[in-house]
Amino acid sequence: MSFESLGLRAELLRAVSEKGYSEPTPIQRQAIPLILEGRDIMGGAQTGTGKTAGFTLPLLQRLMSSGSAGKGRRAIRALVLTPTRELAAQVAESVRIYGEHLPLRSTVVFGGVSINPQKQKLIRGVDILVATPGRLLDHVGQRSVDLSRVDILVLDEADRMLDMGFIRDIRKVLALLPKQKQTLLFSATFSSEIKQLANNLLNSPALVEVARRNTASESVTQVVHPVDKNRKRELLSFLIGSNDWKQVLVFTRTKHGANRLSAQLMTDGIMSAAIHGNKSQGARTKALADFKSGKVRVLVATDIAARGLDIDQLPHVVNFELPNVAEDYIHRIGRTGRAGNEGEAMSLVCVDELKLLKDIERLLKREIPKDVISGYTPDPTIAAQPINRGRASKPGNAKRGSRKQTSQQRRGAQPPLHAIKNSRSKRSAVQSQQRGR
Ligand code: AMP
Repeated sequence: MSFESLGLRAELLRAVSEKGYSEPTPIQRQAIPLILEGRDIMGGAQTGTGKTAGFTLPLLQRLMSSGSAGKGRRAIRALVLTPTRELAAQVAESVRIYGEHLPLRSTVVFGGVSINPQKQKLIRGVDILVATPGRLLDHVGQRSVDLSRVDILVLDEADRMLDMGFIRDIRKVLALLPKQKQTLLFSATFSSEIKQLANNLLNSPALVEVARRNTASESVTQVVHPVDKNRKRELLSFLIGSNDWKQVLVFTRTKHGANRLSAQLMTDGIMSAAIHGNKSQGARTKALADFKSGKVRVLVATDIAARGLDIDQLPHVVNFELPNVAEDYIHRIGRTGRAGNEGEAMSLVCVDELKLLKDIERLLKREIPKDVISGYTPDPTIAAQPINRGRASKPGNAKRGSRKQTSQQRRGAQPPLHAIKNSRSKRSAVQSQQRGR
């Protein structure tokens, strides 16, 4: 199937071909025609599936065909809400790229940077606004945005927004939007909170779902390397050096852990940078740019900071520590093997983490192969220490930190949509197991 057959206009087809895409991804094939028809969408898809183009391309087309493009003073007609600054920046970049040949204007607003330049752009007028909820409300408070003419609302990574405690902000934003509009909701998981939000918000939505990396997983090889905790750093340096990996994304559980590991890798002579919520926006952008350009070989990240990172052809993801929430493992490994490329996800697992590993394998519904690296065999006399199940690393934006003692913590992580759909009894088993945490 080609992009041409999806009914997209010439300017968009041109942008797509300039980007080098030869055919639409499954989510694009499903979502684009439905969105062009004006349907509301409930999309089960995470980053890495091509969902951004899946909603951006038809959104741009609909704005063009609604007639008011380029006439009179511009009003915000499309609003895209995302949980993190990184994702907001990436969605905004996609809007810019795909809309390159159209006379539409867009901008992005997120916290952690000065509000005034954002205000000036908004006051000049934009058709499309990409925003994180908190900063959007700051603009509402300062009267720099008018949301009364929004025709299309996109909630991207809705589950993450709820996990990060944005539900009240989202409700406030929704109250400012016209009742009559097209709404597109994307979420990797469908908890009862998401379903409730969707029920209130969506009008006979079309359900669009694509196989997730963890289920398909044909392009991501997963492996567990059992190792003692105090030898993980050494093993990581060994793996990077002996395999001559050029670009590795490494996950730690805490911001402090990310900083420490990055510093230790530097002392091992491996160029590294840490990316997490306590870093300034400038530092995060620079770390990501250095990583993409190859200046930095290893990017050490916490879960929230890495969410939505769009790095083409990222071949290696390492879980230096397993996440407390099994769901996050799927998000992490979704960073590799994207858009048809091969990827490898390794987990360095010590005896304390075996319970977390079991949770992940239960969610994946299969075991991950174990491979003990010669010279790093775990010491059998070391006993497991209990792991603190609280989310040690809280997400970004310190100013809004208090809100982010997550709803995920209160209700436990939810299984992905395909798991929910499988069977009622399985679902209640998973949920009661999670509630028991
Ligand atoms: P997303 O899920 O939107 O974050 O997209 C994941 C990655 O796939 C991004 O790097 C996109 O540039 C890329 N991508 C999106 N659509 C296509 C396509 N039709 N063909 C190839 N790559 C794509």
